[in-house]
Amino acid sequence: MTGVVRTVSLENLYQILPVALQNAACSYQGRRIRRRRYNGAFHSALNEYLSRRSLSPESLLILRNQRLRSFVIHAALSVPYYLDTFASRRIDPEEIQSLADIVRLPILTKSEAQANLVALRSTVLSGHETIMTHTSGTTGRGLVFPLTHSAEREQWALWWRYRIELGIEFDTPCGVFSGRAIVPVKQTRAPFWRYNKPAKQVLFSGYHLKEENLSQYVSEIKRSGVRWLHGYPSHLTLLASHLLNSRDDLRKQITHVTSGAESLLAHQRELIEKAFDCRMYQHYGLAEGAANISECAHGTLHVDEDFSAVEFICEDGADNYRIIGTNFTNDAFPLLRYDTGDVACGLSENTDCPCGVRSRTVKSIDGRVEDYIVLADGTKVGRIDHIFKDMTAIREAQIIQLTPGRIVLRIVRAPEYRERDEKKLRAETEKYLGKNTHSDIQYVESLQRGKTGKLRFVISEIPEACVSFVSTNAPGAAPVQR
Ligand SMILES: [Zn+2]
Repeated sequence: MTGVVRTVSLENLYQILPVALQNAACSYQGRRIRRRRYNGAFHSALNEYLSRRSLSPESLLILRNQRLRSFVIHAALSVPYYLDTFASRRIDPEEIQSLADIVRLPILTKSEAQANLVALRSTVLSGHETIMTHTSGTTGRGLVFPLTHSAEREQWALWWRYRIELGIEFDTPCGVFSGRAIVPVKQTRAPFWRYNKPAKQVLFSGYHLKEENLSQYVSEIKRSGVRWLHGYPSHLTLLASHLLNSRDDLRKQITHVTSGAESLLAHQRELIEKAFDCRMYQHYGLAEGAANISECAHGTLHVDEDFSAVEFICEDGADNYRIIGTNFTNDAFPLLRYDTGDVACGLSENTDCPCGVRSRTVKSIDGRVEDYIVLADGTKVGRIDHIFKDMTAIREAQIIQLTPGRIVLRIVRAPEYRERDEKKLRAETEKYLGKNTHSDIQYVESLQRGKTGKLRFVISEIPEACVSFVSTNAPGAAPVQR
């Protein structure tokens, strides 16, 4: 989600550096990103996003449709894939005026985007104006695509609007819990964190959150003085459950908790809010920039109508919707009617929220709910889809957990899948789950999906009681396993 540029060789080099140099590398990368992302154009974009909050619902829709029209025309005129789409369907791009018109275009799946990576690139932008970014998503399929600098800034301007409205300031010291292998998995002693000094961030490893290490995490949070925790809810929940079951206490220090990348489950929110004694907030976004939903201070999930054109398509007759989005910002790789693969529930066209924002809202976002993988020693590891990042030769992936420390990777191969891809898959699995995890690879033609078409990324066959990481004495605690 963060759109950070990485190369595999640099990551491998990073893994063998001494801690001091890993810290220097994190700060160096942080400084580079800061320079590129947060310049004058970013602050102009942020001011514009903040000023749109006073727009009436009518003005907001006019703005969305204007942006939609100009982006569709850009795609139709400069992107080979869309030149062909409009010509073969005999559609005049000027006829696409609003969300109601865009349904004339076909939905673009991730597999189709992956199969048309070159044809989806705009021919009028040079490589100098873009960075390569990547995503994996619920089904574990990696998509590597160009992102313009201005699209990256606008994405972050939107995310900072959400943060500022929650009272987070630009220089609020932050503890980040992400899926990046920021500390080598084989490391067994603290520090299980690294520093990005320019961004005032402590980057905590999500892979060392074992019970015996958690008090050291708490000590570092206290020592560093971070006031805001941000990251995967599966990681923050492990920390929260430790706080609720020990004498460690961060309630006076932590003022903000936000989550991203994973769906925030109800029991996770309950535990985290109880442990930190503050409300936590979530937002839904994706590297492709095709949709964004932000939780306001009143707990309502607002669709960011000024950022992209989001369609909610109901397939089951109930209140569940596939999230389909048209991006407005990334001229280098336009995505029209892009199927995010995620599902939202409880759509409302007009919510009279006390925050004053008049947009469509949803009650929950059910996509990207990942389970944990349980290692042989009982450690629970979340957000395993990082194993498949950049592996574009894999169409789809699913993990079956048989017993603690034993998994099966179900893989749907793309035609270009080779032996080297299998080697890389084995190496990445070992990097994220350690040598003691036994993994088998099973090649299949397709993966089994649920009723709503949603794919469960992890299917666990471990009985629920064995997976619960929360003490049964903790009030309000619930097992993590579904
Ligand atoms: Zn609101």
